[in-house]
Amino acid sequence: MISEFFDVIVIGGGHAGCEAAAGSARVGAKTLLVTHKPENIGEMSCNPAIGGVGKGTLVREIDALDGFMGRVADQAGIQFRVLNASKGPAVRGPRAQMDRGLYKSAMQEMLRCEENLAIRGVGVHDLYFDAKGVLGGVVLDNGNQVGASKVVITTGTFLRGVLHVGEKTVSAGRLGEKPSEGLSKTLMEQGFRMGRLKTGTPPRLLKGSINYSKLPAQSGDIPPKRFSFIGPPLRLQQISCHITGTTPATHELIQSNLHRSPIYSGAIESRGPRYCPSIEDKVVRFADRSRHQIFLEPEGFKSNRVYPNGISTSLPEVIQKAMLSTIPGLENAEIVQPGYAIEYDYVDPRELFSSLETKKIPGLFLAGQINGTTGYEEAAGQGLVAGVNAARASSGLDPLIIDRADALLGVMIDDLVTLGASEPYRMFTSRAEYRLALRPDNADLRLTGTGIDKGCVGSGRARKFAEREKQLAEAISFLESLTLSPESARKKGLKIRADGRKRNGMELLGYRDLGWEEIKRLWPEVARWDGCAADQIEIEAKYKIYLSRQRAEVEAYKRDRELTIPPTLNYHKVGSLSNEARESLQLARPENLAGAARLPGVTPAAITALMVHLRRHGGAAA
Ligand code: FAD
Repeated sequence: MISEFFDVIVIGGGHAGCEAAAGSARVGAKTLLVTHKPENIGEMSCNPAIGGVGKGTLVREIDALDGFMGRVADQAGIQFRVLNASKGPAVRGPRAQMDRGLYKSAMQEMLRCEENLAIRGVGVHDLYFDAKGVLGGVVLDNGNQVGASKVVITTGTFLRGVLHVGEKTVSAGRLGEKPSEGLSKTLMEQGFRMGRLKTGTPPRLLKGSINYSKLPAQSGDIPPKRFSFIGPPLRLQQISCHITGTTPATHELIQSNLHRSPIYSGAIESRGPRYCPSIEDKVVRFADRSRHQIFLEPEGFKSNRVYPNGISTSLPEVIQKAMLSTIPGLENAEIVQPGYAIEYDYVDPRELFSSLETKKIPGLFLAGQINGTTGYEEAAGQGLVAGVNAARASSGLDPLIIDRADALLGVMIDDLVTLGASEPYRMFTSRAEYRLALRPDNADLRLTGTGIDKGCVGSGRARKFAEREKQLAEAISFLESLTLSPESARKKGLKIRADGRKRNGMELLGYRDLGWEEIKRLWPEVARWDGCAADQIEIEAKYKIYLSRQRAEVEAYKRDRELTIPPTLNYHKVGSLSNEARESLQLARPENLAGAARLPGVTPAAITALMVHLRRHGGAAA
């Protein structure tokens, strides 16, 4: 008997769940967030940090769509740095260490303030279908049923989770939390292609037991740069991290105990994150290296726990302890929580449309680690898209689809739904074809307008965005109105070809060795746009030629994308396809020609054959 109805139910209060629930509520849907323990909403299961290269851009994109992650990270950060700050703008990565407790409480507070959102602390046992087999809501662990025509599952590592520490295994979704069995069973019964992946985490150490005296410190940037495009400048006393590393003795100890690591004993067969390997993996795969770097990251302003980033492990606790004793500064380190690995079920993301709605069950959306990704930012980005789309679908509106030419978020979703995930998927800027345009500094210019159109950006942000657009336009037109002849440039100490042609301010800013500071020296009035607008304008000026070339490529890609492929297309009826191409297309069922072109085994000849078929039959299924 259903006692309550919502428009959208979001299962799970992790990074995907928080953004999904908030996104759905912002669009105006009556939303329920159901999670095991409300006090764990926003929990960082692994490292206490947000952002990084690629991931930092995702956070900015989430923020551009009015998501919470950036604003919460700004409130909870203890140290802010821009990674790759000296490299090109596409690969700069805003990253911040978090106070784990503050992150959770700030996220919970923001969710509590969200209109249209209710939160319940109870597990979801299963999905509920009506007599006609249509999705109708969820069945809670306490037996109650709650109705909703749209459900978003964001259960992370909890689906049939099994935790490993050495030879010990226990069913769990995360350390100390029970797994989710019923949902996994139902998804399998409904015919979803599913697989198993694994991930791991290092032991947490007692701060007072670490000898920092000989370890180099790493401090934050001054001034710290916030994630969010809106909000006040950051004011905080930043905390340093410290750096240490493994030694030959560490590697010897690990090698001689590999048989006790579940990954090597055969107890775990599933794939882990290639780019975030366990220390056992690193020692085996990079056997020629005598040292692996470890960052000692404090877990908060007042926390007595430290996260040793770089030594994720599932060796038995006693070996973990012995391993630490071989690492400078950690000789007497005490473990407050052992490292562990976890195996869990995930759904092949090719089961999803780009809206993150499942192809098999209309109204059911999946987001986060359940789709084969790893990382908070990847989860949060998907959560936002799934939540917004569940809410829009509940009102009969078209979905928010983020193009891979417009955002890393679009690249990630397109990769997942087109290529699937045979190993945990992590965001890298190198996955994007048009990465020069997909930078952290311009995420709002790429996405906030779309967010306003799709109803997920509130009026406060919309106002600030309009103001920023106006400022940028004013600054650019002002710079374009300022001119300097080569003769006057020479008098001011600038080297410009003496061709008699005057250069405007934007052109001068495009010179490699002329920066914003020099422009300000020439025209002090320009200081008015110091800060965020300045960075943006300088990048646009310096990369103008590359960006316009990329725009032309984007146009060509968008033409391919416009040729849509019906989900029911019978690939056996498409002539001249190789078996390999046919199989690949059949499995992925790409939504358009651009997606088809990215599949393994799909050659340019196969694309031509497909195009001819689609033109001739108008995409008819037969
Ligand atoms: P989670 O953050 O896991 O949240 C899942 C939520 O769903 C929880 O709130 C849970 O209570 C709730 N839930 C589950 N089942 C139910 C149910 N039936 N009913 C109600 N609520 C339910 N990421 C990296 O980038 N690098 C790493 O090295 C890394 N290591 C990790 C190590 C471990 C041990 C774990 C657990 C995670 C690790 N992660 C790592 C992954 C990172 O934590 C996740 O990618 C991210 O948290 C996924 O977010 P999510 O929202 O999908 O799921």
